[in-house]
Amino acid sequence: MTSTTPVRVGLLGATGMVGQQCVLMIEGHPWFRLAWLGASERSAGRSYAEAARWVQDRPMPEGVAGMPVEAAAPAADCPELVFSAMDASVAGGIERAFARAGHFVVSNSRNHRLDPDVPLVIPEVNPDHLELVVHQRRERGWPGAIVTNPNCSTITLTMALAPLRAFGIRRVLVTTLQAVSGAGYPGVAAVDMLGNVVPFIGGEEEKLAVETCKLLGERRGGRVEPAEVTVSAHCNRVPTVDGHLVCASVELEEAPSPAQAREAMAAFRGPPQEMLLPSALRRPVRVAEGTARPQPRRDAMAGGGMAVTVGRVRECPLLGLKFAALGHNTIRGAAGAAVLNAEVLMAGEWLAPDARARCGKRNRKAPAWQGDGV
Ligand code: NAP
Repeated sequence: MTSTTPVRVGLLGATGMVGQQCVLMIEGHPWFRLAWLGASERSAGRSYAEAARWVQDRPMPEGVAGMPVEAAAPAADCPELVFSAMDASVAGGIERAFARAGHFVVSNSRNHRLDPDVPLVIPEVNPDHLELVVHQRRERGWPGAIVTNPNCSTITLTMALAPLRAFGIRRVLVTTLQAVSGAGYPGVAAVDMLGNVVPFIGGEEEKLAVETCKLLGERRGGRVEPAEVTVSAHCNRVPTVDGHLVCASVELEEAPSPAQAREAMAAFRGPPQEMLLPSALRRPVRVAEGTARPQPRRDAMAGGGMAVTVGRVRECPLLGLKFAALGHNTIRGAAGAAVLNAEVLMAGEWLAPDARARCGKRNRKAPAWQGDGV
């Protein structure tokens, strides 16, 4: 398969913070072409350039600026694969309507993450959970389906924990320092944020506790048995733009040394080799060695923003092991996570055969934004 024709995709919530990052990530993607944009009634009927308050560092792609924004309802010209980055207050019902109408919805929103028949997936961690789609479609009678990625801070934490699974994870105490981009636009008031740390993010601590266990859980048929890991989280909003830092202490059954933990993290690999995905990194967890001076901005952008950088892996007098992990909020924690999930759906033959036929392995090409191309 060597075709180079990208598949048409849609984007719900295209005008928001995550939607804009999705626009940038799909731009130039070797498998996807943005063909349909959806947002609220406020934006519907306007061009994307008029409707979106663009807040990205890179300019709005010219080809997208003139595209019309549609109301967020299934339409005849809407592609089979639809990314969703809608406000959680409305995402649930709209995503179900799209799945019912035959669309594969790849969602960033929290609404369906914990539904027993909805996969909550990080391709490097639990790609087999995608099998829930079979049960979801059967039980709900949908020709389409909903697939979700986790909350942003949960992705950073779980990527760092996943390499430690073999040691038996028991308890995790985690403190997050989360960027303002996680609050959408306009987000947290400047008066609250400037020169301050806000020690509360609504619902975040619960998400870290529950989503982590589903992600690290075991799939049994059409359900996931959550991992028996106790996660206690403190979540803080800090005045940075994109970097989410998580500082975690972990109790492991086998009590590895910091050197053994570092080794396991460094050996952690991306999705299976047969899945040659444009956004997947061969080494998705980067381990910063020794006492090297931290470079948070650069580390957050490692692998085009798709890597999680772990550093300061050391002994913890309370739980045994502790470390810090940094991830890019809107890339690894949101838009990039969704794009990677969509790539797995394509490579895994979940989509219609004509779509699959367009992403042959020899068509693999690293997008321009990707850091190391592996
Ligand atoms: P945002 O900037 O507030 O954007 C919200 C989007 O939802 C906009 O496109 C908005 O369209 C659309 N929307 C609002 N009401 C709608 C309606 N009635 N019908 C259809 N669309 C509607 O939010 P965000 O930060 O991008 O977050 C989007 C989703 O991703 C949320 O569910 C959030 O929890 C999740 N998420 C965010 C992050 C992050 O880093 N920010 C990370 C992980 C997950 P209009 O412009 O027309 O109002």
